[in-house]
Amino acid sequence: MSLSPPKDLSRFGPRTRLVHAGRNPAEQHGFVNTPIYRGSTVLYPTADDYVNRRARFTYGTKGTPTTEALETAWSELAGAAGTILAPSGLAAITVALMSCLKAGDHLLMVDSVYRPTRSFCDGVLRNFGVETTYYDPLIGAGIEALFRDSTAAVFTEAPGSQTFEMQDVPAIAEVAHRRGATVLMDNTWATPLFFQPHAHGVDLTIDASTKYCSGASDLLLGSVSANERAWPALRRTFDSFSMCAGPEDVFLALRGLRSMPLRLREHERQALEMARWLEARPEVERVLHPALPSFPGHEIWKRDFSGSSGLFSIVLKPAPQEAVAAMVDHLELFGIGSSWGGFESLITPFDCTPYRTATEWRPQGPALRLHIGLEDVEDLKRDLEAGFARLRSACVRAA
Ligand SMILES: *Cc1c(COP(=O)(O)O)cnc(C)c1O
Repeated sequence: MSLSPPKDLSRFGPRTRLVHAGRNPAEQHGFVNTPIYRGSTVLYPTADDYVNRRARFTYGTKGTPTTEALETAWSELAGAAGTILAPSGLAAITVALMSCLKAGDHLLMVDSVYRPTRSFCDGVLRNFGVETTYYDPLIGAGIEALFRDSTAAVFTEAPGSQTFEMQDVPAIAEVAHRRGATVLMDNTWATPLFFQPHAHGVDLTIDASTKYCSGASDLLLGSVSANERAWPALRRTFDSFSMCAGPEDVFLALRGLRSMPLRLREHERQALEMARWLEARPEVERVLHPALPSFPGHEIWKRDFSGSSGLFSIVLKPAPQEAVAAMVDHLELFGIGSSWGGFESLITPFDCTPYRTATEWRPQGPALRLHIGLEDVEDLKRDLEAGFARLRSACVRAA
């Protein structure tokens, strides 16, 4: 067997490609993995080579064999022309936006977007002369009515953060490209394994590698992958900000990436089982999970996505705050905390009614977001069942 990777990985399935991409044992003395290269200075053989930057790697901030390995593997998976790595998911979002916007431009931003993205638009982008209009996640091709001559970018996220509205990304991309705008997508929920962004018309795709690429809640990292059209500006902007990721985090993400297909399938299976079980519970008003036929955006999910991940939300029947606290605060297995994508289950309350601007989101009761981890699913059900019993007694006490 050759120590170099097989030529042209595109003839293989996604799992085979993920095992071989971004790895060349021939360059690493036969060792399977690219190690952690720590480095600022790169040495050149001659002054002339230095002046003309004749080297594969030129300086630590511009890339190392470690960052190149993950970038190459991610581009392979996403079907992208190039990928950059940033120190967090949010950092990746900001670099992607800055690469396609300038003062005087207009940005269309989905109303169900990850909230810190919203804060970036309302703060930094506004201060730098970019105006943001929020749009209804269900708008589809109707987005054309919101376009102005100055509209330079449309940002999508499907499903929406917390509320899981499905967006018709191909329909939005068709309009945006006809009007000369760049299409961005936060694809953290599906990853390219379950949604191929560039094949559906997305120019710049963000993935918070902090989530499923890591799979262990122990690192912070983000990536932006680009098609041919968006790649040069992305790379230029990234180099200007020099927002480079740490080598240990990149190495850990590469490790996580190799087993991501298996973990995702398991998160999917367990989350679907929990979602169906929750749908049948009398305490639950609605389950917000795109893979459930009862969910309004289900048809779009079925058309464009090849799987669903471990994150979804539920809306409880009306209950006082103390009753929800009695349920959530004493769960044994579900942790309460931000982020997700690790091996452990999480539950968090949320309320997006105060900050939505384009659409009203009116749940009929308290809303909870769940991430289903890799525990035994029957244990998770028992934990929530005990929680529901506490919820019911607290409701009776409050009545
Ligand atoms: C977590 C998350 C991010 C940000 O990732 P960080 O690494 O925590 O900055 C961005 N988008 C979505 C949808 C997320 O869930």
